[in-house]
Amino acid sequence: MKEIVVATKNEGKLREIKNLLEDLGFKVTSLKDYPHAPEIVEDGKTFAQNAIKKAVTIAFYTKKLVMGEDSGIEIKALNNRPGIYSARYSGADATDEKNNRKLLRELKGVPLTRRQARYRCFIALVDPNGFLKVVCGSCPGLIATRPSGKNGFGYDPLFIIPRYKKTFGEIDPAIKAKISHRAKALEKVKKVLQEY
Ligand code: IMP
Repeated sequence: MKEIVVATKNEGKLREIKNLLEDLGFKVTSLKDYPHAPEIVEDGKTFAQNAIKKAVTIAFYTKKLVMGEDSGIEIKALNNRPGIYSARYSGADATDEKNNRKLLRELKGVPLTRRQARYRCFIALVDPNGFLKVVCGSCPGLIATRPSGKNGFGYDPLFIIPRYKKTFGEIDPAIKAKISHRAKALEKVKKVLQEY
C-alpha cells in the first residue's frame, strides 16, 4: 500500500484529512509517526508558502509522498487577520480557547452583519522526485458572539454557517466534511492523487 505522510501534528486537521486519503487507498501517516522529523518554522508570508515549506521539508526527510496543509481564518472587520497567524493568534502559548477569547474581544461591539469571515486551506503535495502541486479551498461564514458546540477544533465553536444557522462546533462533522475549506481543497487533492 502506498504511503502518504501528512505533515502535521494537529489532530483536528488529521482527522478531517485521513478519511479521504484512506478511501483513495493510501496508508496515512503523520508527523506523530516521524518524531525526529525536523521542526518546521512557519515563516512564509502566505498560506501557500507555508504549505509548500511543510511538504518539501518532510518529503526530503521521509523520501515519501507528503501532504503539507496550511490553513486559517480571515476576519473582514480585522483586515483579514489573523490569517496565517491563526494558530498563534493569542501568543506563543496559544490554545484554541485563548484564540477564541481573543477573537471575541477584538470583535466586541461589532454587529453580526459585520462579522463576515472565511476559512482558507492550502494543500501542497510534494514527492522527493520533484512532484509539486498546490490546491486551495475556502469557506465563508460569520463569527458568533459566543462559542457554541463541541465538534471540530480551532475557531469552529465561533464559526457560523449561515445556511445552517449553526456553528461548525454544532454541525455534524459529516456535513463539515462536505462544505469546509479543507473539504473543498481535498476534492481537488482527490483528482490530483487519482492521476499521480
Ligand atoms: P496551521 O497549523 O498554521 O495551518 O494552523 C491552522 C489554524 O487555523 C488552526 O490552529 C486553527 O486555529 C485554524 N483553523 C484552520 N482550519 C480550521 C478549521 O477547520 N476549524 C477551526 N479552525 C481552523
